[in-house]
Amino acid sequence: MKSAYDVVIIGGAAIGSATAFFLTRQAGFDGSVLVIEKDPGYTRCSTTLSMASIRQQFSTPANILASAFGVEFIKSAIFEFGDHGDVGFKENGYLILATAAGEATLRGNHEVQTNLGADNVLLSPDEITRRFPWMSAEGLALGCLGLSGEGWFDPHALLNLYITEAKAGGVEYVNAEATGFEISNGNITGVCLADGNTIGCGAVVNASGIRAAHVAGWAGIEMPVEPRKRIVYVFDCREKDTITDGPLFFDTNGVYCRAEGAFFLCGYSPTGEDDPECDDFDITYEWFEDLIWPTLAARVPAFEAIKVVNAWAGHYAYNTLDQNALLGPLEQAPNLYFANGFSGHGIQQSPAVGRGIAELITSGCFGSLDLSALSVDRLVKGRRVLETAIY
Ligand SMILES: Cc1cc2nc3c(=O)[nH]c(=O)nc-3n(C[C@H](O)[C@H](O)[C@H](O)COP(=O)(O)OP(=O)(O)OC[C@H]3O[C@@H](n4cnc5c(N)ncnc54)[C@H](O)[C@@H]3O)c2cc1C
Repeated sequence: MKSAYDVVIIGGAAIGSATAFFLTRQAGFDGSVLVIEKDPGYTRCSTTLSMASIRQQFSTPANILASAFGVEFIKSAIFEFGDHGDVGFKENGYLILATAAGEATLRGNHEVQTNLGADNVLLSPDEITRRFPWMSAEGLALGCLGLSGEGWFDPHALLNLYITEAKAGGVEYVNAEATGFEISNGNITGVCLADGNTIGCGAVVNASGIRAAHVAGWAGIEMPVEPRKRIVYVFDCREKDTITDGPLFFDTNGVYCRAEGAFFLCGYSPTGEDDPECDDFDITYEWFEDLIWPTLAARVPAFEAIKVVNAWAGHYAYNTLDQNALLGPLEQAPNLYFANGFSGHGIQQSPAVGRGIAELITSGCFGSLDLSALSVDRLVKGRRVLETAIY
């Protein structure tokens, strides 16, 4: 490890390593890059504990286009990088369901999405049961199904791809914990480590996931990002054969479910007082018993007889302002780049965000895709992203 780098990235999971990888791809950039990661096994980060699903079914153009690039990257990786570019993409689509109360929003979002090139179709209740005879359309007014460009993948494989390619491009990784900044005239000049060393830097990327607000605080910046626990339940079902080929579906109350090999994953994002700031990994089964299972059994009769075989807890880096990414620098610390607050949709945005942050660092602006709608400066400008498809 050298004593100083052009770019120091705090956090080496999906966002940090995607940024490192895309830095190595920036034409004319031959600077040095260090990734500081305190958990090199990536056992507790959001990335490896996520559902790793990708959709274009958002309402905000920047989110739709970021995920469109995510899909393009994931689908082309196997051609570009060979076997280790195979991230196990399962292109089964999302099926987002709506009652009469949610119908207008789903229709409006579908129009925005298809205008931007998404391959989605609206389905009436009859069309839903024709396509998916194992599903009940009780209470539904409409569904929106992604015909291509949506599905899920292996988050470990994507992370491994970024890290392998970033290292091949000269990026260094160190197993260490960043603990503070040295600051001169508003610029971050060094990143302090727990072992007492300080690494000099030209620019810093805050890719620390749920620790985003803590890291921002070292520069005197308040970041509205906090850990919120999400539990994923894994279940088996006797009559599963046709269902395992179905899409990821979101029921009208936010309960979601998709296949994972021969099993199924399901969960739910609580709100309000059921969703406190929380960074433990404890698992409770109340939500499963009281809400998730009844919802699933009503929607898919075969799910009346299921058995939970596993469960895990992970955390959203939850942006309390508007649940969307906070990207780029702020005037008060111009060489500190934020890539934080992704809430439940960060891994699918990692290709677009990694590329975007790399472009910001090397050229001062977003080049390939304008992500300025997600700029962190909305914190000072009092602007919010009004995304209606948040889960
Ligand atoms: C249950 C669940 C389901 C999800 N499902 C989806 C989904 O289907 N689709 C989707 O797009 N997104 C999903 N997400 C969200 C997604 O996982 C995250 O948005 C994304 O992985 C964020 O990546 P990250 O690199 O910013 O953060 P993380 O993956 O949390 O990584 C942050 C890294 O920073 C390191 N770090 C922190 N502080 C320091 C420090 N001081 N020094 C050194 N290292 C440090 C940590 O060790 C960690 O490795 C889900 C999340 C959860 C929890």
